[in-house]
Amino acid sequence: MFADQETIERLRKEFPKGCRIVCDKLDDPYTKIPAGTQGVCRGVDDVGSVMAIWDCGSSLSLAYPVDKAHRVASEEEIKVSLNWLGKLQETAEKGHCPRCGAELESFRRHALSRYANVTVCDLCGVQESLEVAGLCEKKPLTEWYCTKEWKL
Ligand SMILES: [Zn+2]
Repeated sequence: MFADQETIERLRKEFPKGCRIVCDKLDDPYTKIPAGTQGVCRGVDDVGSVMAIWDCGSSLSLAYPVDKAHRVASEEEIKVSLNWLGKLQETAEKGHCPRCGAELESFRRHALSRYANVTVCDLCGVQESLEVAGLCEKKPLTEWYCTKEWKL
């Protein structure tokens, strides 16, 4: 059973290339990706399979309609993705602050976030200290810059 064109377009909107996804149910005769595993969506192919590279290293695609996944959404899920992003930062030359989007010349010499193992810009580092001290309201992880597009 393959997805029709309308379904494929809906899936492509739901799972844009580069978004972070969480596995709900995915297995084939050889591999099982445990529910809760996260990965990066690599797009939706012409039969409606959601292609992914899972954090465990597997690149098993989700077959429509039997396999299920969803975009990272909860604070807890985003935290897992932030830790994943933090690992990418270790080998990256430069990129953006995942919290506010400010350009960073280097991920070294900046602040480590209080919420995940990820580097943020100095300003966000100060802001987070104020949040932790209860001096201002916490910016939800769902509103972080990187949650729109998971790029460095
Ligand atoms: Zn920032």
